Parts: sequence; structure tokens; C-alpha cells
Amino acid sequence: MNATELAAAIAALPKAELHLHLEGSIAPETVVRLAANYGVEVSAEEVAARYRYTDFAGFIEAYKWVTSFLRRPADYRLIAEELFDRLIAQNVVYAEVTLSGGVMLRRGQDVEANFAALIGAAERAAVKGFRVQWIFDAARQFGALEAVETALWATRLAPAGVVAFSVGGDELALSARDLQPAYELARSAGLHALAHAGEIGGPEIVREAIDMLGAERIGHGIGVLHDPILMDDLAERGLPLEICPTSNLRTGALGRQLGADGARLDRHPLKSFFDRGLRVVLATDDPAMFETDLLGEYRVAAAMGFSPAELARLAEASFALALLPQAERQAYLDLFRGQAETLGLL
Ligand SMILES: [Zn+2]
Repeated sequence: MNATELAAAIAALPKAELHLHLEGSIAPETVVRLAANYGVEVSAEEVAARYRYTDFAGFIEAYKWVTSFLRRPADYRLIAEELFDRLIAQNVVYAEVTLSGGVMLRRGQDVEANFAALIGAAERAAVKGFRVQWIFDAARQFGALEAVETALWATRLAPAGVVAFSVGGDELALSARDLQPAYELARSAGLHALAHAGEIGGPEIVREAIDMLGAERIGHGIGVLHDPILMDDLAERGLPLEICPTSNLRTGALGRQLGADGARLDRHPLKSFFDRGLRVVLATDDPAMFETDLLGEYRVAAAMGFSPAELARLAEASFALALLPQAERQAYLDLFRGQAETLGLL
């Protein structure tokens, strides 16, 4: 199978994406439209320039700036519809999309109205065979109290399709101990527990997220590369890492973990994690803000040395680790395996 045939097979494969932020998916042209609605004139080029960062703090600044133009339920509906259309065009049939619940609450928005708008977008996409579930996410830098408030909203929104509580933002801003009340609340209401950890931080933050917060999947987790014992422990327990290579490069996280010489995709630890037996899934994180998409991440993985069969195993993991009832997960896996065999990938 040559590179063109492989790209076509990956494109045709039914796929899932498990680490994807709605607010990081807004195309520059859409930011222009949203900003204009609120009397702010920016060009697509200016947005694209703001979508380039030299470090993680710069990325967080850009994220704050773009979310400042999400003020009404219709804004959320628009960006969700556009995201879902782009996913459907890549044959993504299932996604777990993270919402910055902490940001919505801090801005005093009507969370229920926003959510009703998102459900509208999800119903429109369902007609095209696409399914979404939501992850409600607190920002560490907003503190422990706001994390509890966000977790409380996550539990209220469970009937509307929120399946997990998570935490993101500046992972060095708040310790796992301070986040325990929020996670206990979410878990006791039956939500899954996820967490960003080890993105710019070290392996100890990953370990705390698992041991103290009950995290079932780790967002990024590349910091574990410094701790062989933890890597083996994760492999043995089957605790997955959600890996977003282009994100790690563009936010400066990779350079922070590996030193300035390491800020290259060919130094990314994804392939070594996979070869070591860690469970990993491939995702985009904030596709518009990193000028990537899921097909692009599979091209990146292929360039790292994943064989066609290994790429298929990687793609399969996103279904195997989906936060779905067993029967539904199995149905997706059966669909995936059938197609992967037909396409000559398995
Ligand atoms: Zn993320």
C-alpha cells in the first residue's frame, strides 16, 4: 500500500475522535463573522496569526480571545454545526466533544440555553449518521470552587448527553487535591472522570490525576515519557493517553517536555508509547487553532513510522475507549473492523 492508497483508506475508514474542544474548532472565517456580530472587526489573516503561539501561555491567551466571541446560544450552535460537518466529511462517525463549561459559567452565560442549541446541532448531525457525546470541562486556573460549580452543572446536564467531567487549562495552577471535591461530585453522580495532565507538566501530575481524581483517560499525558515505571504501570492497567501530536508541537508542550531540540514531530513520543504497549488514541485537541484535522493527525502518525495495520489499531482504540454502553461500543467496533478489513488495513 503506497502513501496515497493509505491516505485514501484512512479517509474511508469510519473513525472516532475522543479529545476535541468545541471552542478550539472555530475556523478563522467563522471567528471573523462572530466578532463582527459584536462590533469587532478582524480579518481571517489576523485570526490565523492569533492561532500561532510561541508558548502555552500564548495559546491560553488566544483561547480566551476566541471564546470572548461566543456569547449567545446561536453562536454555539453555529460552531457545533460547522465542527460536525467537518468531522462527517472525514468519516468521523462518533466524537466526544469537550465544552469549556468553566468558561461559560465564568461569563455568566445561560448554560441550559447554550446546551439546547448544541443539542439542535447534534440532532442535525445525527441525521447524517454522526453521534456526539459531551465532556464538561473546568479550567484549573479558575480554582477549586469554580471546578465544583462546573462539576455540578455537568451532573445536571447528564440527561442531555454530558458523559464526563474533566479539567483543562493551566495544569500547574491547581493541584489534584484541590480538585478532589469536584471529581467526587461528578463521579458520585455517575459521570466518567477525565483530566488533562502531563501536557506541559510532569509524570507526577498524571499519577495524581489517576490516583486522586480517578481519571479514566488522560488528556495528553506526554510527560510520562520521563517516568518508565509509570509508563509500564499505565500499560499494565490499560489506562489510556489521548495523544494530539500537532497540538503538542504548536503549544510548545513538546519543546517543554523534550527541550528546544525536541520541538519536532519526529521526536514526539507517540510511537514509542504505542510500541511499549501503552493504550493511546489519536486526536486533534483544537483543530482550527492548530491548523490540523483528524486525517492530518493520521498522516503525522504515518510519518512517525506507524504501519497501515498499526494505524488501523490506533483508530480502533478510539472506538474501544469510547464512553458508550458496551453494546453500542461493540456495534461501532464491528462496523470498524468490517470496514478496515475491506479496505485492506487489517
Ligand atoms: Zn485538550
